[in-house]
Amino acid sequence: MTATRVLVLNSGSSSVKYQLLEMRDSSRLATGLVERIGEQTSRVKHTSAAAGDGRERTGPIADHDAALKAMAEELAADGLGLDSPELAAIGHRVVHGGKYFTEPTVIDDTVLSEIERLIPVAPLHNPANLTGIRTAMTLRPDLPQVAVFDTAFHTTMPESAARYAIDVATADAHRIRRYGFHGTSHAYVSRETARLLGRAPEDVNVIVLHLGNGASASAVRAGRCVDTSMGLTPLEGLVMGTRSGDMDPAVIFHLMRVGGMSADEIDTLLNKKSGLIGLCGDNDMREIRRRIDEGDEQAKLAFDIYIHRLKKYIGAYCAVLGQVDAVAFTAGVGENSAEVRAAAVAGLEPLGLAVDAERNAVRGEGPRLISPEGARVAVAVVPTDEEMEIATQTYALAGNND
Ligand code: ADP
Repeated sequence: MTATRVLVLNSGSSSVKYQLLEMRDSSRLATGLVERIGEQTSRVKHTSAAAGDGRERTGPIADHDAALKAMAEELAADGLGLDSPELAAIGHRVVHGGKYFTEPTVIDDTVLSEIERLIPVAPLHNPANLTGIRTAMTLRPDLPQVAVFDTAFHTTMPESAARYAIDVATADAHRIRRYGFHGTSHAYVSRETARLLGRAPEDVNVIVLHLGNGASASAVRAGRCVDTSMGLTPLEGLVMGTRSGDMDPAVIFHLMRVGGMSADEIDTLLNKKSGLIGLCGDNDMREIRRRIDEGDEQAKLAFDIYIHRLKKYIGAYCAVLGQVDAVAFTAGVGENSAEVRAAAVAGLEPLGLAVDAERNAVRGEGPRLISPEGARVAVAVVPTDEEMEIATQTYALAGNND
């Protein structure tokens, strides 16, 4: 039997998301989430094509080992057990691959220790990713396991975009540079945008706006990333659900010296209590729009700050690219909020950018154009699919392709 299925794992510090994909027809056989790992109220949510409606159960799940076992049980209950000979490989989302990993990579001991070496620049993400990989290796030691890095797509950035203007020796000693994240999504969406335009990725320049709870922009020239808004960590760039994005770095010294805050407290403030939630108490764009409709000034200001930053990046990346063929909106906010898309592009007609109100209002599933007929720059909604991209890359590298 040919093995044509790929299991995709995204292991966070307290959750594991999984999808089982059939590569013959790019279908999703099962998806699930184990969350609140380590708490009494852990929860497993599982949906599969075979089982129809999803199911959910709660109860303590002590660690990642137990979480993956719970996942394996759910899959087995639907006849999709991990012992299946149809499973070709396991693909892992790994957040930080540094400069070292420019491509998806089959995991061996050297790869594991390199991911470990990157922990100082990704203290929240890489340890959880490593735990997930090690546990999955014990479940199916015979299967190839592939790491697909969030940073890989951005390794093509020129030094002029990747380096910060700080002392070179200090930067190099601590591996401080712009790495960028959400790379799997930026890669997928920029390629899908080219396809939507009926052109090859090498023939188009695209600005990708990945607007989820985390948010980032990238400038993609001829299929290669030349700049992106996230930096050493995912904190830099756009205003996000709970992250500040760009600000004067001196704010941090000020909070330390004058505000008496510790590095950890400021880390939490800027990553978890800033952005939209810091500005107005909500990080869900639906809720913010609802409040704006009711005349809430604080929600309106939060929205305006979010849009102002987004516009600055669109303008900056028009300048970086020179010739822009398309701007693509993706992820939770980008795919669903017509208001954000309209506001982000409003007034940018001199740059060739505009949104057609009617097209923008249509809700749809697949990639679609929202710019007016004959516009100089295409504006598009292009749904992202990071799991499919991870599975595709994993299968290309480790599948049984004979
Ligand atoms: P992440 O993967 O970063 O957690 P997603 O890409 O799933 O995030 O995006 C989640 C966000 O998308 C939510 O916080 C919410 O702000 C936004 N969102 C989801 N659905 C809608 C909608 N219908 N309208 C506006 N915003 C939405």
